[in-house]
Amino acid sequence: VTIELRDRLVPLGPEDEASYRDLPASSMQAADALEPLANGSFVLHRRALLDADITMRRGVIRIPGKGLFRFEKGGPRSFKAYRIQHNQARGPYKGGVRYHKEVSLDLFKALAADMTWKTAIAEVPFGGAKGGIRVDPLQHSKEELEHLTLRYMYKLKNLVGPYLDIPAPDVNTNGQIMAIMMRQYTDGERERHSMRGVVTGKDVRIGGSEGRVKATGQGVVYCIEEWARERQFPLASARVIIQGFGNVGSWAAEILAEKGCKIVAVNDAFGSVANEAGLDVPALVRWVYDNPENLRRTVLGFPGATAISREDFWAAPADIAIPAALGQQIDGRVAEVLKVRLVAEAANGPTTADGERVLASRKIDLIPDVICNAGGVTVSYYEWLQNQRLEHWSEAEVDARLERAIKANYGLIRDIARDTPQKTALHDSRSYCVGRKLDMRTASMVLALKRIAAHYELEGFSQ
Ligand code: GLU
Repeated sequence: VTIELRDRLVPLGPEDEASYRDLPASSMQAADALEPLANGSFVLHRRALLDADITMRRGVIRIPGKGLFRFEKGGPRSFKAYRIQHNQARGPYKGGVRYHKEVSLDLFKALAADMTWKTAIAEVPFGGAKGGIRVDPLQHSKEELEHLTLRYMYKLKNLVGPYLDIPAPDVNTNGQIMAIMMRQYTDGERERHSMRGVVTGKDVRIGGSEGRVKATGQGVVYCIEEWARERQFPLASARVIIQGFGNVGSWAAEILAEKGCKIVAVNDAFGSVANEAGLDVPALVRWVYDNPENLRRTVLGFPGATAISREDFWAAPADIAIPAALGQQIDGRVAEVLKVRLVAEAANGPTTADGERVLASRKIDLIPDVICNAGGVTVSYYEWLQNQRLEHWSEAEVDARLERAIKANYGLIRDIARDTPQKTALHDSRSYCVGRKLDMRTASMVLALKRIAAHYELEGFSQ
């Protein structure tokens, strides 16, 4: 997709004051139209600017109360956008939309395949897809991102739909982005209300589900609870380190802290913070999300913690490590220094093959991503169902269903891994066990592939 970006404003220093002493200030509306970006520059909001009176000289304007700014050319003008549809044997393609500066076609292929396994494991009637845009959101204003999102959905319109392919939030996207995608998809349609299920992860006020925002973090906690029950590990006194404090990491932190766990260190794209006695998680959430000064939304600078290095973060003594950021974070080297008993993969693909070998040799348990973070897509399915049925479920109902689904499927994977076929109220794992013990990741793949294979075998199609 190619979009036009407006130029941005870079603040000038006091040394430039002399050259522009007689430049009159623009109107107050111009000051209101100024939106700061996380990279230190500003963008003039087009809508707010409609009736602003601007005086400019040699590309410089004076904003009342804020000083002098120079217009500069914005970043790249064309953006690579992707959507990969990996498999639809079990239902419509399903998967998130990621905005990140380091995405690629190959990454989206891998992530789309992960969604195919994940939807099978979560037992939701969807296939696997993934997509997004190669863009650094920190470099762009909300308005620019909206423009980009509209163009993206415009291009996708024939490829997605409530029974075809259903996008959802992923890294750097959220309910607002989904609302824009829904608007673009349904715009001008006579029966647009029946099309709400074209995206999930929407705000509850426009057809989203209760409990969807926290769902991925909540699902991570349900998996950890099952692990703790099996290992007879007292979860209430667990020490936890979390990489990533976006939607997934922050919700996992909040829910675990409520259960008495101590979140002793958090790492994000800008650095790491730690507190031996446990971070005050609600205060950290406010610091990151409710703080107009903290434009990059980083944990850095949080008053209730000390800054530590990335090395010290991974080596912090704890019981559980939750990678909840990007892929390939736990490589062989990180796996060597971890001082935990469990890695719960809240991110997609956070452990490299090397990392996994080291974890296994050090007898560190692993909850694989395809079950660990399946809470998000599971509640996406509940949202889609509510949309199709014009229903609205309570948060308690969503949570109860999610807990049952995650714990039952986690239990199946564990049975397959231990080769202990069982018949439970919800499942019969006899048909999934393969006659020998497996690691949890392989066991989860057995479950996924057997569920997908059933469609090929019974429906008799080949692809
Ligand atoms: N992006 C999330 C994931 O990786 C959610 C996908 C969805 O809800 O469709 O699982």
